[in-house]
Amino acid sequence: MTNNKQRIAIIGGGIMGVTLAYRLSQQDFAVTVYERGPSLGGLASYFDYDGIRIDRFYHTILSSDMSMQDLIEESGVADRLHFTETKQGFYDGGKLYPFNTPMDLMRFPPLNIIQRFRLGLQVIYAQFESDWQTIDQIPVEHWLLKVSGRGVYNKVWQPLLRAKFDTVSEDVPATYIWSRLKRMMGTRQGVTSKEMMCYLENGYYTLIEAMAAACEQRGVDFKLNTGVDEIVIENGAATAIQTSDGRTEPYDIFVSTLPSPVLAPLIPGAAQAFRKQLSSQAYLGVLCPLLILKRKLTPYYVLNITDSSIPFTAVVETTNLIDPQHVNNHHLVYLPKYLAPDNEMAQWPDDKVEAEWMRYLKQMFPDFDESWIEDFIVQRARYVEPIRPMGTLDQIPSIKTPVGNLYMGNTVMIYPSLGNGEAVTSFASRMIEQILQDVRG
Ligand SMILES: Cc1cc2nc3c(=O)[nH]c(=O)nc-3n(C[C@H](O)[C@H](O)[C@H](O)COP(=O)(O)OP(=O)(O)OC[C@H]3O[C@@H](n4cnc5c(N)ncnc54)[C@H](O)[C@@H]3O)c2cc1C
Repeated sequence: MTNNKQRIAIIGGGIMGVTLAYRLSQQDFAVTVYERGPSLGGLASYFDYDGIRIDRFYHTILSSDMSMQDLIEESGVADRLHFTETKQGFYDGGKLYPFNTPMDLMRFPPLNIIQRFRLGLQVIYAQFESDWQTIDQIPVEHWLLKVSGRGVYNKVWQPLLRAKFDTVSEDVPATYIWSRLKRMMGTRQGVTSKEMMCYLENGYYTLIEAMAAACEQRGVDFKLNTGVDEIVIENGAATAIQTSDGRTEPYDIFVSTLPSPVLAPLIPGAAQAFRKQLSSQAYLGVLCPLLILKRKLTPYYVLNITDSSIPFTAVVETTNLIDPQHVNNHHLVYLPKYLAPDNEMAQWPDDKVEAEWMRYLKQMFPDFDESWIEDFIVQRARYVEPIRPMGTLDQIPSIKTPVGNLYMGNTVMIYPSLGNGEAVTSFASRMIEQILQDVRG
């Protein structure tokens, strides 16, 4: 059956790899997916806990994420998608403040009345800005100061930037905040500005599993626990894959979904300049403890933290989005910390992370009682968010690489979109267009 079909190897079984397999197997290709880990999902994978699946990292789908919702519908799991109204808050000066509606903004005590108005104006201004190539040449601080002013910048934006980047550097482009403001406003419903988000029961893995099942019916071969050690390149073109279990397997087309610095050492036969372009791409990592509680901690899905002495970036209580009944009535609180590549916290052992995180959590919530805790589970990932300094757009790789037969896609390339399921699955469609165009001549 597969003899006449072009053979495609997809490297990486995260949501991008599985989406590519799902779509390419609908075309006339014989598809094999190589995944180094024991299960599919990558950053969107899960762990088993108390008889249920829990997302390693928090994952929400926005009501405006149509590529994700189309895939969910098509793969037959739409009945497991739930829309909920969510709330956000701010932690400032030892207090929690709601931050959801224009009224919340108008009452936001950490800012004076003029500053509140300027903050609102900044959010509106971002919605009307569409020329991202121009703002990509403006440092984020300059762009924010122009509309928000120094007071709002120091009180709100700078702590948020520091938390997200682990440091505030001069060469972060304005596009970074602009993309976030655009995306978040896409979740607002009607004049009440209520924020609607959705979740899949048992997390993103529910979609990945459904797509993988459809793929297997079409003959896709998922090779789990099989890392790719090398993509063999002969005369400038990829010809075969060498796997961690010692095999060499030939293919016609190769598609990498790996982070750029992870792909670089797998292609020793590629030009030095291309490998250097990939390996020099910096990424933020994440240290993301999950606190499993017997009871609710806050009323918010996200509590942003403006106090820079607190080691974590935010308090993300996903069971204010997810119905706790879908997670055996546990309450799930993620406490992420984004890490610059040289941050030594990445090496901290789990018990040190737990001691430090709990110290600050008790400071934030004086009523917090250790008897509420069911578990504290530390999750980590090294390649999470690409860092794109100003003036480096020409360093973003193309889908069609300089190596013959080798295509690539990762979150570096979805710029100026943010790294999320929506952007990754939409980008997979662009990759498929490129592959089909080349194959069909
Ligand atoms: C803390 C956190 C919160 C997030 N929140 C959200 C959210 O709310 N909403 C949202 O939509 N997105 C969110 N995301 C982002 C989302 O998880 C990612 O954008 C998405 O999962 C990336 O998928 P991917 O397939 O591109 O990459 P990855 O998931 O990184 O997949 C790459 C795969 O390649 C495999 N691999 C690596 N090396 C090899 C090798 N040599 N051979 C074979 N396989 C290999 C890896 O094991 C992995 O499975 C969040 C991420 C994090 C970390």
